[in-house]
Amino acid sequence: MESDPTMTALLQVRRLTKAFGSLTVLSGVDFDVERGEVVCVLGPSGSGKSTLLRCINHLERPDAGVVALEGEIVGFRRVGQALHELRGSELARQRSQIGMVFQRFNLFPHRTILENVLEGLCVVKKEPRDTARPRALELLDRVGLAGKVDSYPNHLSGGQQQRVAIARALAMRPKLMLFDECTSALDPELVSEVLAVMKDLAREGMTMIVVTHEIAFARDVADRVIFMDAGNIVEQGPAGDVLGNPQVDRTRSFLARVM
Ligand code: ADP
Ligand code: MG
Repeated sequence: MESDPTMTALLQVRRLTKAFGSLTVLSGVDFDVERGEVVCVLGPSGSGKSTLLRCINHLERPDAGVVALEGEIVGFRRVGQALHELRGSELARQRSQIGMVFQRFNLFPHRTILENVLEGLCVVKKEPRDTARPRALELLDRVGLAGKVDSYPNHLSGGQQQRVAIARALAMRPKLMLFDECTSALDPELVSEVLAVMKDLAREGMTMIVVTHEIAFARDVADRVIFMDAGNIVEQGPAGDVLGNPQVDRTRSFLARVM
């Protein structure tokens, strides 16, 4: 895993294992994500999708297995044979390479939209405010919110807040973006504006892992679909194959319920 980073997949996940008490939530998950690839992760509630994303950016500490971004192990430093868990600024630096957008937007309520986007750039990346500001404005324009930069989050719709959350994650110049059911909490009429921003990002070549129940989005945008059940990848392949002609019973019955 520590060979030339340009020769390896952008993200490598190997034998990733996580339990909460006696409940095994991930039981040795393996997959790669190539640069520019869009991978949609589908699966029933409780199958381990969120835990998988949280282990990828080390919000959750895996029990075993590794995650590597460009060949660099996420969340740990190798010391001889042992892995020492990273903390503080070292972990923050690694995490800043992996943007994450959650179901809940988690914006700072007492800061304007612009300040929300500047926060990570100025605090984590330590960019001076005068260089960070034009970039934050450009990102807010890109997600269609140029007119809202001085508004506060509670004056925006859920769809607009979620687009701010995407801009905030992009501000860190991530190599990989993770989306965890980021349209599930939105009123139905607001879902498409968020999916449109994600579709643009995919078209521009961003590498993305998207946990979603939006089958149409997966069909249109995903290069690959991963279907998870009970902590395992039970089926994966090109979106057209997995969605159009699932090989495994569990995938078939799940799709029959959500399509
Ligand atoms: P999904 O996102 O596919 O719905 P999750 O990864 O959120 O699944 O959860 C998988 C299982 O792990 C569920 O049974 C959930 O209750 C459990 N779980 C998730 N996080 C925790 C936690 N912090 N402590 C205990 N159990 C958890
Ligand atoms: Mg989840």
